[in-house]
Parts: sequence; structure tokens; C-alpha cells
Amino acid sequence: MLRSTPQPWRALSIALTVIAVACAPDISDSAANNTTPQPRQASTTTEVPPTSTSTPPTIPATTTTIAPATSTQPTTTLATTTTLPTPALGITRYGIPVRISEPTTEGWKVFDPCGNPQTISKIFPIRETQVVLDPGHGGKDPGTRGPTGLKESELNLKVTVAVAQLLQEQGFPTLLTRTGDYYIELDERIALSDAANATALVSIHHNAPIAAKSNKPGTEVFAQTGDTESARLAGLLHKEVFEVLNNIDGIEWTSRWDAGALRVVNSEGGDAYSLVRKPQTTNALLEIAYLASPSEGTFMAKDGYVHLVAPAIAAAIKTFLTSDQNGTALLERARIHNPSGGRRTCPEVELE
Ligand SMILES: [Zn+2]
Repeated sequence: MLRSTPQPWRALSIALTVIAVACAPDISDSAANNTTPQPRQASTTTEVPPTSTSTPPTIPATTTTIAPATSTQPTTTLATTTTLPTPALGITRYGIPVRISEPTTEGWKVFDPCGNPQTISKIFPIRETQVVLDPGHGGKDPGTRGPTGLKESELNLKVTVAVAQLLQEQGFPTLLTRTGDYYIELDERIALSDAANATALVSIHHNAPIAAKSNKPGTEVFAQTGDTESARLAGLLHKEVFEVLNNIDGIEWTSRWDAGALRVVNSEGGDAYSLVRKPQTTNALLEIAYLASPSEGTFMAKDGYVHLVAPAIAAAIKTFLTSDQNGTALLERARIHNPSGGRRTCPEVELE
């Protein structure tokens, strides 16, 4: 029945820890049902609470009694009902971030990673997100592969989770579009990002195919045409990531001549990549360096790589959020590229 079952627990136990900190208390917990364990504390979020019946998110929050101090008039009681809005996003029991359509009598109607409606019994709402991180590829789409066999989708996720942990620790609520090795539609990544109403969206990738030999890393960051904040985000990401990689000795780098913070447009002049073109959220797409290159890819498969590059990405995002600084200047001339590739089929992902 399910063509693709995620293997979420290794990655998800980490990712849930990261993501769940950003979540407001579960609606069912904050209302009448206080028996459900709270999954939100960072130290306890690797445990997924048991099944519980969700309470619909209409919560009579306050009843205010107004009694005139000196009056013989009958007391007037005004009942004020505050309705907590349905959250736009939530995390399923398997740690999959999803858009929420509406509460139902059975639970919640949500959109799965293929963008299809599904009804699930339990959700952990996300109330606040400042940063969305999008680890490229996943599931049947592994992206490129390194010389050790390392899949780009796996490396992208490792780096993204590490960046998210750093941002969370510094007080920036962060959401991942993908939390395990499953396929998610590009349009659903975009819809999730925009529904989060975040300040910044960063897609994280590693590059292929092999470019020309270079004495410098070929880090590329793509910005959205016409958006100066996107250019600033791209420039800061490029500056930090390029600098940290450039300080490493013994790597034979590869690069294109126009690597840097740049725009990639198609023949019609629109941004070539839909993940850059379509989001309403200020965004940038980062190609850290070339996983497909033997020297770079061997280095990227080592344990220290993630711990080296993740702080640089987190620092760039923090600078973007907390200052008006610029990093690397956006190249004036856009690269022309016409991506191929039609629609892929989307295997269903198990949500709970
Ligand atoms: Zn990629």
C-alpha cells in the first residue's frame, strides 16, 4: 500500500528535537485535556507521546465577569470566548512536517509531502517559525553522489539538522521542510515555507557535476531576481561558507568561473529554479561545494565536515536576521540555465 516508507527515527529523533522547540503547546494539552504528555521541551522531544484524542482547536479561553463596584443593578456577566486559530503547520507523530487544512472529528486534515490531503489523528502544532531550512532531495531522489557513495540527500539533511540545532539554541525558531529520507514535492516545500510565515528560507544542497579545477571552493548561492533581501541573504551565506571552506588545506577544489552569490535565470528571464522563483518568503539556495568531486566529496564524508560548515551557515542566517549587513556582492550578470525534468511521481509517505 505504501510505496515508500520513511526510515525516520534516526534523523527524526534529532530533527524532532530541533523542530519541536519551535512548537507551541499541543492544543489538546493546553485545553481541557491535561493528561497528554508535553512533547515540547528540547530535552524530551525525542519521545513521541502516545496516541490521544485531539481536542478541536476552539478553546473557550476566558470568562470575564464584570461587576460594577457600587451598584445595586444585577451583576452583568459577559462571556468572552477566544478562538485559537487553527495552526498552519504541524508535525505528525512520525516527525513529518505538514500543512494543516482543518480539524475534523477524526483528527486533522493535512497535506502530505506530495501535497495530497490526508487525515491523521494527532498533530503537534507549530506556532512560530523564523527560519525555514530546506534540505534538498530525499527518498527516490537522492541528488548527486559522492566518491564514497554518500548521497547528497543524506548529506543535505545532516547539514540542515545541524544548522537548525544551532539556530534553535540561539533562539531562532526553525522548521525543516524534510526530516527524513523521503520524497517531497518541490511545490510542497514551497507551500510549507510560505505557510510558516518565516523571515528566511534557505535550501541546502551540494553541487554536481564536476566543475573545472580551481584554487578556491566553488560555493554558489542563488538569489531571487528583484529581491534585495534575497540578494543580501545569498551574499551572507556565500561569504561565511566560502571563507570556512577556503581555510581548509589539502582539498582540490572545483568551481565554475561565475561561482558566488548570483542569479540563475531561464531563457525567458525568470529565475530558473522554482525553489528560488516561487516562494513568497525571502530565500536563497545554497550549493555548498561539489560533492561529486573526488577530493571534495571524500572530505564531505568525514565526520568533521558537518560541524565545520553548519556553524558558518547558521552564522550567516543569524547575521541576516539581526543586522543589515551584506556579504558577498551579487554578481551583476545572471547565469542562463534551462532546467530539464518533468513531473515525477510522488510516493506516499507514512505520516503516523
Ligand atoms: Zn541538489
